[in-house]
Amino acid sequence: MSEESITVVGGGIAGLTTAALLAKEGYVVTLLEAHTQLGGCAGTFRRSSYIFDVGATQVAGLEKGGIHHRLFNYLEIPIPDAKILDPGCSVDLCDGTMPINLWHSPLKWREEREQQFPGSDFFWSLCTQIHKSNWAFVDRDPVLPISNFWDLSQLIKAIRPGNLVTGVLSKLTIADLLKISGCEKDKRLRKFLDLQLKLYSQEPANRTAALYGATVLQMAQAPRGLWHLQGSMQILSDSLENSFLRDGGNLLIGHRVTSILKDKNLNTFSIKVIDKANNLLCLNSSDLVFSLPPQLLLDLVPIEGGLSERYRQQIKNLPKASGALVFYGAISRADLPVNCPSHLQIFDENLGSLFISISVDGDQRAPIGIATLIASVFTDIDNWSNVDSETYLSKKDFISAKILDILNNKLHLSGKSWLHQELATPKSFERWTRRPGGIVGGLGQHPSQFGPFGLPSRSPLNGLWLCGDSIYPGEGTAGVSQSALMVCRQIMATKGRRLDVPILG
Ligand SMILES: Cc1cc2nc3c(=O)[nH]c(=O)nc-3n(C[C@H](O)[C@H](O)[C@H](O)COP(=O)(O)OP(=O)(O)OC[C@H]3O[C@@H](n4cnc5c(N)ncnc54)[C@H](O)[C@@H]3O)c2cc1C
Repeated sequence: MSEESITVVGGGIAGLTTAALLAKEGYVVTLLEAHTQLGGCAGTFRRSSYIFDVGATQVAGLEKGGIHHRLFNYLEIPIPDAKILDPGCSVDLCDGTMPINLWHSPLKWREEREQQFPGSDFFWSLCTQIHKSNWAFVDRDPVLPISNFWDLSQLIKAIRPGNLVTGVLSKLTIADLLKISGCEKDKRLRKFLDLQLKLYSQEPANRTAALYGATVLQMAQAPRGLWHLQGSMQILSDSLENSFLRDGGNLLIGHRVTSILKDKNLNTFSIKVIDKANNLLCLNSSDLVFSLPPQLLLDLVPIEGGLSERYRQQIKNLPKASGALVFYGAISRADLPVNCPSHLQIFDENLGSLFISISVDGDQRAPIGIATLIASVFTDIDNWSNVDSETYLSKKDFISAKILDILNNKLHLSGKSWLHQELATPKSFERWTRRPGGIVGGLGQHPSQFGPFGLPSRSPLNGLWLCGDSIYPGEGTAGVSQSALMVCRQIMATKGRRLDVPILG
């Protein structure tokens, strides 16, 4: 491998997008993926005649001008076949009231809000202003957080007067916005916000940055929207893989990186890798893009590997991320309630938010007449680490039974309805994605941690770059694609080139 080559570690959506963009720009790129399948948390697995999305089930950014649409156009690969979700989700607070439907039409969503949360207009209009100003800002490809003059120049280019106005809210939370709008006593609205924000920011309303929360709370509405992919989530990775290979990328799947060392004299990275047959390989490269959770740098870069103690400490101090428990099931479609929405969020006293995704007839996830159903809840990874196998299995049985109970109750199913059922725990996610302890979805979007206050993509070690769901703008396939674009622009700028990906608004 030449000194000019770039290595990307991790073949989830962040790593794949980075690798595909850099290969398209003519760089010699090697992508190393530990699993024998690409996609990471946005991958799929098969059980008999069913295909299950491992983690991500909804896609943002597929509309014209959205980040996936933009990048797929630039890479000259077909936009995947997908349907807009309307409603994007149906949220059941389980308090005996009607579920709240996140309609795609802004007008319909406004009517729903007025009916469900009377007196909350000012809160929502504040969110709408922030949301509009944020999206326009994100579309101008800012670099956040800034680490040098070039980053600052990109940030300044993206800022408009509207962002300066909303910028003063950067230390506020969504709960603060509720107070400002006089809605802090609306318990039902608060419960709804806590549930929704947990999904996208890993934090409730009093711990989610207002600037982040206001945006994700309106992701389901036009002109943005949430999409359901035809086939499966794997189509995103397959398309990016095709682009990468077409442009001469070197794809090494089943290759696990075990150590990264910077040779300061040669100014290259020496990367140790174990392949499928357990052979130890050593690769060299001038730049290295790390798309795994940054916490893994502590294991993979040895103490003498070039990372300062200060940076290691910064990573150690990152807030604790959540794990997930995911139930994968299959049922006869005839057993589901009539007009059952394909995405639901249900509140449960013990489990908190239960997020449910049901396949659509003909979407190729199950034979016609059968539906796959995926239900996920957040969990503390510590509850699943260091437990003996007997305890682990009994905890799994307990959680499966609990989730089944909620599903049977809410969807009027019986035990006999289930054609398939299994549960993934943080341990399963750790095995599948090698994320430490099975943490998922990046870092919480607390005001002290989001956007300008997060971990930069530019590491203090020259040539070592970070992207993925712990880097701005955060989790989700759309978020990590944006982080991939940002890191490619930074890398190319250090090599005296520009990457301009047009916006097709
Ligand atoms: C249950 C759940 C539900 C979700 N729902 C949604 C949703 O509906 N919509 C949405 O947009 N997002 C959702 N997300 C979040 C989304 O899936 C992730 O934020 C995103 O896919 C992360 O992509 P990534 O590339 O940053 O990381 P990952 O997907 O974790 O990819 C990292 C890759 O690196 C590989 N790797 C790890 N260690 C090594 C090593 N040592 N050497 C080489 N390779 C290695 C892994 O195998 C993996 O393929 C969900 C996540 C979960 C877990």
